[in-house]
Amino acid sequence: MKLLQDRIVADGKIEAGNILKVDSFLNHQIDVSLLEEIGQEFKRQFGDREVNKILTIEASGIAIACIAARYFNVPVVFAKKSRSLNIAGDVYTAKVESFTHKNTNDIIVSKKFLSPEERILIVDDFLANGKAILGLCQLVEQAGATLVGAGVVIEKGFQDGGKRIREAGIDLRSLAILEEMDVNTGIRFREE
Ligand code: 5GP
Repeated sequence: MKLLQDRIVADGKIEAGNILKVDSFLNHQIDVSLLEEIGQEFKRQFGDREVNKILTIEASGIAIACIAARYFNVPVVFAKKSRSLNIAGDVYTAKVESFTHKNTNDIIVSKKFLSPEERILIVDDFLANGKAILGLCQLVEQAGATLVGAGVVIEKGFQDGGKRIREAGIDLRSLAILEEMDVNTGIRFREE
């Protein structure tokens, strides 16, 4: 997605530890017009399938999922990163190691919001080692729901999450794939 690649080059900041900061347009301050384009692109990529619900993980996935959901006309459910008081009763849960925070969270979705007859599209901001997406896939599997595919905004192609997810047979679509990222030489995108 050219618009997204241009924005990453213009406003993304490469930080130590293989982190790309996109907090001026994607996951702190949010450019809603760009998110609309992103939502439409997910609709173009997955629009030929039946999707009943979009699943993401808090916090950065929520805005992306909500705007995508406008184009699919379906609800969004987001996995919470810790058990909170307003989730009573049964939950689906998986353990997810955080790439950015280097800790492990239990991610949780109430059983009320994922059911076997549903067809789920997973959406997230970044794909690095694939732990977040694979954790979300586990929740879909526990619910007995059908996973339609996974859409990520930025895939860090030099980490192995994309390979792992594609090898698991999941239809993964990434709107920008970073092939290389270096503080001195900048970013090179994978050409599709
Ligand atoms: P994974 O689980 O695939 O290893 O990492 C994906 C999660 O870590 C995403 O939900 C995202 O929040 C965070 N993440 C991974 N790499 C980056 C990065 O370079 N920049 C930012 N801002 N977040 C990242």
